[in-house]
Amino acid sequence: SVALYIVPTPIGNLGDISSRAIEVLNNVSLIACEDTRHSGKLLSHFGIETRKTALHDHNERDRAQWIIQKLSNGEAVALISDAGTPLISDPGYHLVSQVREAGYNVIPLPGPCAAITALSASGLPSDRFTFEGFLPAKEKGRLDKLTALAEDPRTLIFYESPHRIVHSLESIVAALGADRQVVMAREVTKTFETFLSGPAEEVLATVKQDLNQQKGEIVLMCHGHRVDETQDIPTVAVNTLKLLSEELP
Ligand code: SAM
Repeated sequence: SVALYIVPTPIGNLGDISSRAIEVLNNVSLIACEDTRHSGKLLSHFGIETRKTALHDHNERDRAQWIIQKLSNGEAVALISDAGTPLISDPGYHLVSQVREAGYNVIPLPGPCAAITALSASGLPSDRFTFEGFLPAKEKGRLDKLTALAEDPRTLIFYESPHRIVHSLESIVAALGADRQVVMAREVTKTFETFLSGPAEEVLATVKQDLNQQKGEIVLMCHGHRVDETQDIPTVAVNTLKLLSEELP
């Protein structure tokens, strides 16, 4: 039926595409892709010949009106991103909100998402978590963001790029403390899938001395703030005191 379908695609292992995803991608009139060349490879792997159009951060708002036009002509449209679930640190938010506003159905398909997949095997509490996307590239912004999350009791989930992983782990040690439990999930569903876990300081040391850990795609997760009933001084204050005491004679 006429709708915008939100279709997740694999995050590494092509076997993770669903049969429903293939069916929808075959049957719509148009597939909006983050990058038509990138998705072209995936689609041709599955023999899907549906017409493609580009929808990325820079043209999304204009493109949305054009896609609404297609829907009004009775054409069904699918949205995919380079990998995983569209809209999750990927384009699509403006499109979905505008399509809904225009009164058309938006139908989501469940499927691969790096954050959820990594969390499910992390060993960290999964009853409550907060997905924070990518940490800011600049140190000041990163520390501000992490400091604001320091007392959050929920598991923290971040996306990370391999060339920033060391900086981000350093900021986690500084803002959340050297002992904060961290799990780093790398290359999930791919050949070199690795889970590293331990206190932030130890994970940082491992990643620093093993350059292989600074390659590929990474989900970084932190245990939430643990409420210590024997202590009523905020973690930020304890960390500051610890830093100060190291500087004192
Ligand atoms: N929409 C995607 C999803 O649903 O997971 C995420 C897109 S975001 C632009 C890309 C980031 O997702 C990467 O930098 C990495 O942090 C994470 N990611 C994607 N694939 C991954 C994988 N196979 N293993 C670990 N992290 C992955």
